[in-house]
Amino acid sequence: MEKLYYLDPYLKEFKATVLKCEKGEKGFEVELDKTAFYPEGGGQPCDLGFIGEAKVLYVGEKGESVIHYLEKEVEVGQEVFCSIDWERRFDLMQQHSAEHIVSGIFNSMYGYNNVGFHMGSEMITLDLDGELSFEQVREVELIANEYVFKNVECRIFEVSGEELKKLKYRSKKELTGNVRLVEFPGADLCACCGTHVRYSGEIGVIKMFSCQAYKGGVRIEMLCGKRALNYINDILEENKAISKLLSAKVKQTSSAVERLMGENSDLKNKLNEMLKEKFEVLAKENVGKSKVILKENSLDSNGVRNLANAILNGGCDGLIAVFSGSDEDGYKYAICQKDGDLREFIKNLNSSLNGRGGGKPFFAQGSVVASWNEIERFFEGV
Ligand SMILES: [Zn+2]
Repeated sequence: MEKLYYLDPYLKEFKATVLKCEKGEKGFEVELDKTAFYPEGGGQPCDLGFIGEAKVLYVGEKGESVIHYLEKEVEVGQEVFCSIDWERRFDLMQQHSAEHIVSGIFNSMYGYNNVGFHMGSEMITLDLDGELSFEQVREVELIANEYVFKNVECRIFEVSGEELKKLKYRSKKELTGNVRLVEFPGADLCACCGTHVRYSGEIGVIKMFSCQAYKGGVRIEMLCGKRALNYINDILEENKAISKLLSAKVKQTSSAVERLMGENSDLKNKLNEMLKEKFEVLAKENVGKSKVILKENSLDSNGVRNLANAILNGGCDGLIAVFSGSDEDGYKYAICQKDGDLREFIKNLNSSLNGRGGGKPFFAQGSVVASWNEIERFFEGV
């Protein structure tokens, strides 16, 4: 079983003979005499593509063999034309090589180890076993990109266990026997079974997006190459939309949002003042009444409560019920009575008007799903 992806990681198409094809749970399991399909391993997701007419769903390793899981059957003994999804593979090579360079730089600058790496989803995450600020991460980002610009050649070689002892290299586990090492000279030396770019320049760009505390260390979000470009373009489009909506320059959107939030909070304060005045007027109007039923249009639950409280504190000893809402969306309510015990009453109200809520014996809050007519009819009987 020749592993062509090690001989030439840039091989996109090849011909191979089908040695085995068996129906399994995850599709037809196919072995070839040679393959350029990289099987999932070492943090690198597998290649996809086509073997003959059959779509490749997954590629994994079983012992020494590479198993291709296909959508449909291929004939044993036949020579088939195979093509790997190169865009996917090259993207994974960019992300993987960048991960090595970045991890090597973090390791030599801070002594931290890469303890987790995921490149399967849209965002790549890299976990390190020590604390870092985002400023420190940005500093490494710059150093890593300068390394990319220098277009340094990647060296991949095997060493024996004896030679390995003399080398300073990164590895997630203790290794013995012959080991495959991937070196980005001057940045990193790491035991790895993945595929890598020939020159650092092919990574294009390394972009770090965030750095959060994670399991005693940090988790960094990063992207490289075209994936970084696409993501940055998405952010740019989003920021452009904000800039258009706020008539602000693209580099000044946050100050425009701050201004807007300030205006919003001023308006809220003004509105609250006006409501307070309105509530005081209503409280005066209802002093001494035995029953006050009010319908408002646009009060939120705080407003409903505040109005009921204002009337209660204004000197009304009767039953006070404040509603706000509409027949379509239902009504919020606040119901109270000085020194009253409304628990039984609220239970009745909720069951008659399809409502929910409660509170203290003399003050309840909740909502009903009923029309204003139905609410009025309920209170006529009270
Ligand atoms: Zn690796």
